[in-house]
Amino acid sequence: MNKSIFSLAVLLLAFTGVARAQEPDSLSYFREMNEVNDDADTSMMLVRPIDTVATDDKYVKIILFNDHTWDYIELERPDIDTTGLFEDWDIESIHAFRDVKVADLPESVDLLLVDSSHQFVAPMIGRRSSTFKYRRGRPHNGVDLPLRIGDTIRSPFDGVVRYVGGGKATGGYGNLVVIRHPNGLETYYGHLSERLVVENDIVAAGEPIGLGGSTGRSTGPHLHFETRYMGKPFDPERVINFDNGTLRDTLLTLKRHYFNIGSHYGMSDKQSKNVTAAQYYTVKKGDTLGKIAQKHHTTVNALCKLNGISSKKVLRIGQRLRVR
Ligand SMILES: [Zn+2]
Repeated sequence: MNKSIFSLAVLLLAFTGVARAQEPDSLSYFREMNEVNDDADTSMMLVRPIDTVATDDKYVKIILFNDHTWDYIELERPDIDTTGLFEDWDIESIHAFRDVKVADLPESVDLLLVDSSHQFVAPMIGRRSSTFKYRRGRPHNGVDLPLRIGDTIRSPFDGVVRYVGGGKATGGYGNLVVIRHPNGLETYYGHLSERLVVENDIVAAGEPIGLGGSTGRSTGPHLHFETRYMGKPFDPERVINFDNGTLRDTLLTLKRHYFNIGSHYGMSDKQSKNVTAAQYYTVKKGDTLGKIAQKHHTTVNALCKLNGISSKKVLRIGQRLRVR
């Protein structure tokens, strides 16, 4: 609500500002307006906007004048090249390209992130409390950025909202927004307290898309931020330096080995290719080393070596064992 009042005020200010600053143009505009309305007093020159009304298209508003005339006003619309943007466009599922495997991705793909007409704005700035890695027995597919509930989260690039969800539908993500950018990159925003956009919304770089929160599987207010290409996550720090809120580079060369969960920004290609993610398992009631080994397609011997334990070790429920 505040946002719409604010944009209304900006719009009115901008409009009256234009009317004063560029009198000849605006006067002829007002004359045309009056001619459209048969009942209007055509001698009246000072037609003032008194209100605006939203339309289904957020970039088009209806502007009402004090002489009962109205007109459409078109706000500046981000110029988005949509070639390929809507490939596998799925607004029902959190992840797109679910049939595509990492092995199907190109060895390397260049994504242009910004150019003269497409800017970058940091979604938020802050230290990371967790990174792209295997964590507590499951992949943590993004970075965590602590915040205060209600902090504004912005779209880093122009794009179109592909998915918005919350509650049971998104599981651990809590309130989630997913934005597809024109180069095919997707950005994910989890644990939001508020979602400010809906599916198929066009968003400009810097536009607020949600408010920070702690919904879903979250131990405290933070933004869970992911970057994905063809549905596959990679380290967001390859794109954004969160310490100072800048882009690493205008061009992102995305290599297939970046999609290994242990591959992160700053690694050499050799290190990144060699990454085999450690995997952990939490011991449950009735588990034995034999059962756990079988479940994870490994041997008791390998488990003991990995964890530095003897095969006679008594397992504790809740204990974490490395299984890979
Ligand atoms: Zn997270």
